[in-house]
Amino acid sequence: MPQPDPSIFPLSAILNASFPFLLGRNIAPFLSGGLALADGRIAGKDFTPPIPGTARLDATGCVVLPGFIDLHIHGSAGHDTMDATPQSLSAISAFLARHGVTAFTPTTMTAPHPPTLAAVQNVAAAMAHPLPGAAILGVHLEGPYISPHFPGAQAKADIRPPNLAEFAELVAAGPVKLITLAPEQPGADALIDAALDAGVRVLIGHSAATYEQTIAGFEAGVSQATHTFNAMTGLHHRQPGVVGAVLTDDLVYAQLIADTIHVHPAAMAVLARCKGPDRLLLITDAIRATGMPAGEYELGGQPVFVREGQCRLADGTLAGSILTMESALQHFLATTAWPLERAWPVTSRTPAAALGIGNEYGSLAPGYRADLVVLDGALEVVATIVGGRLVYLRGGEEGRLGQ
Ligand SMILES: [Zn+2]
Repeated sequence: MPQPDPSIFPLSAILNASFPFLLGRNIAPFLSGGLALADGRIAGKDFTPPIPGTARLDATGCVVLPGFIDLHIHGSAGHDTMDATPQSLSAISAFLARHGVTAFTPTTMTAPHPPTLAAVQNVAAAMAHPLPGAAILGVHLEGPYISPHFPGAQAKADIRPPNLAEFAELVAAGPVKLITLAPEQPGADALIDAALDAGVRVLIGHSAATYEQTIAGFEAGVSQATHTFNAMTGLHHRQPGVVGAVLTDDLVYAQLIADTIHVHPAAMAVLARCKGPDRLLLITDAIRATGMPAGEYELGGQPVFVREGQCRLADGTLAGSILTMESALQHFLATTAWPLERAWPVTSRTPAAALGIGNEYGSLAPGYRADLVVLDGALEVVATIVGGRLVYLRGGEEGRLGQ
């Protein structure tokens, strides 16, 4: 592990910022003022003399939101979850903090069992030590129990039927929190049961399910859709498919890659109208090319070509993204024309709820984790705070810090 950045230090308060729903109650769309932090938690609105050894961040002209939570991210900054090395997760953590992400679930790709197991074990090991930026919430297994008809950029040769013994070994090896699968595959019901018993949330994705099979999946316990619209049966008026089921179910959460490349802006708007801010969550699906120059990279064992902001396999199939969360939020606002006071939960409160940690993450109410992102008027990241510690401050903003 690299040494922690000496610039990482505790904050006791955020001053002069705008906040949505200060203290977690819908008193007004946005309020201005301060927020006190103590012991890694949000302490409330009232703060008294500075705590020795801590700093205050003057956020004049900025908006403070709960830190972004990305539930679907393979990699960035040249690194990938499947590298299964401590250095990779550390580099991804640091990169994400520069983009406002305070917590994430490293996401695997469809692969043979041994490398997937190694990736899970590596995440477990990384969670035992402090990371330089965004914290890890657990593993998201994307595959391997998906549909060969909708592989997307997943390696088709490694797609296989649900395997309870294999899954049990993965769950025993580390904190698996999410699994994306195709519920129409033979044996998926038993795997969904095993996942729910182990406290793992089940997502439908890379799926050829019909509308009826999808509804049956929801009834079996599937609670979220992976990158909605991408790699699943679409909405036809006589065959509404996975998309039709996701759009019309009021409880299921829907992930969206809001880069306007994976999903047309009009389809993004349809999803937003159907799901609302409490069921729609933005993800990046970012790969190791994120934050790197254009060129050739690797994803799930296959070459990926990054050009003009798009990641594609040799045959043209979209292969993850180079999206960052603040860009996703900017695209989402531009597409939906929702004001920030309506949209903000899609990057924090809703993913926290979808993961079952909404009592601790995704709110500015007292007692919640002090995971915060400070954004300027263009919604670019000025500062990121994880557990009350400043892990990123944009260059030139040092004057905001004081006692
Ligand atoms: Zn995918």
